[in-house]
Amino acid sequence: MKLSIPAAIESIAPYVPGKPMETLERELGISDSVKLASNENPLGPSPMAVAAMGKALSGLNRYPDGAGYELTAQLAETLQLDPAQIVLGNGSDDLLALLARVLLQPGDEVIIPAPSFLLYSTTALSADARPVVVPLKAMKIDLEAMLARVTPRTRMVFICNPNNPTGTVAGRQDFERFLAALPEHVVVVVDEAYFEFVRDDGCVSGMAYLDAPLAVVTLRTFSKIYGLAGLRVGYGVMPAQLAEIIHRVRMPFNVNTLGQVAATAALKDTQFFDQTRALVHQGLDLLYAELKQRGLTCFPTQANFFLIDVQQSAEAVFQAMLRHGVIVRSMNSYGYPNYIRINVGLPEENRRFLDALDKVLKI
Ligand SMILES: *Cc1c(COP(=O)(O)O)cnc(C)c1O
Repeated sequence: MKLSIPAAIESIAPYVPGKPMETLERELGISDSVKLASNENPLGPSPMAVAAMGKALSGLNRYPDGAGYELTAQLAETLQLDPAQIVLGNGSDDLLALLARVLLQPGDEVIIPAPSFLLYSTTALSADARPVVVPLKAMKIDLEAMLARVTPRTRMVFICNPNNPTGTVAGRQDFERFLAALPEHVVVVVDEAYFEFVRDDGCVSGMAYLDAPLAVVTLRTFSKIYGLAGLRVGYGVMPAQLAEIIHRVRMPFNVNTLGQVAATAALKDTQFFDQTRALVHQGLDLLYAELKQRGLTCFPTQANFFLIDVQQSAEAVFQAMLRHGVIVRSMNSYGYPNYIRINVGLPEENRRFLDALDKVLKI
């Protein structure tokens, strides 16, 4: 075999998926482990979504609705948008790939904050575009420094708001100054995967800037607050002119029937939404108080996860926590060798985490 793989593709680091909990438990000889590593919803999926999927099962011999009519209409109503401004995706990951496909050419530049979501670099590299990496400043995305890196080749700028993994947000004024200074050939992509958890009134949403002179794309997902990560449903909100281009190249059935049905029901499940938000906020308040008592630094967050400075190798802490059946995320590969990231779990899971941490750190 002689494969000629483009150099840009060869340069992409292989994605290392986390081991399924079942595999980990078997390897370590443990049971009922607690996973706080992927920012998932600990309450499970929205019950209204589960009920709606049950009813849809007998229709699975049919192809999905390729236009996602019901879900798009429900989103348009909920968000007060024109359906033509909404594009559904097989998770928001799908939208990242679609944006790269329609907007990027070899040699184009994509400005990316770091540490942030690792997929932004992959998105740029997959189109043979050049990731221009701009470090955070005091754990926040540095809009000024990003502006300074704009050139005539800049096609896309990523803002993760709240930022994964630091949990910080951009304020309205700072974002507006940033937008006003950007040339019109730049597309701003605001990834709002955790927006529904935000408590800070000053936090900006990309959705407020659909009429800006340059294209602002906002990405949202059903994977986090709606508890549907396994189904893969996300959406992008963008000027209709860009949405129309993406519709031409997306897979005709990129969101499956169960995903569409579940997401439509989840949007109406305000009780589950409120319950998740309250659980996360109560959990954050408890965990911060408990960790502070232990003398550990936790970074303030607007999301359902946060960083903890464990003052030693995060990899070692991750491994040791694993043996106590608690899965956390080491931030070593994000450039924070002494930080771990956890998401809020159920009250008993938060307790298990604190007990395991006490044993591991010998507090
Ligand atoms: C979890 C997450 C997403 C959501 O991805 P999906 O493909 O919709 O599951 C997007 N962006 C960030 C930063 C995330 O952490």
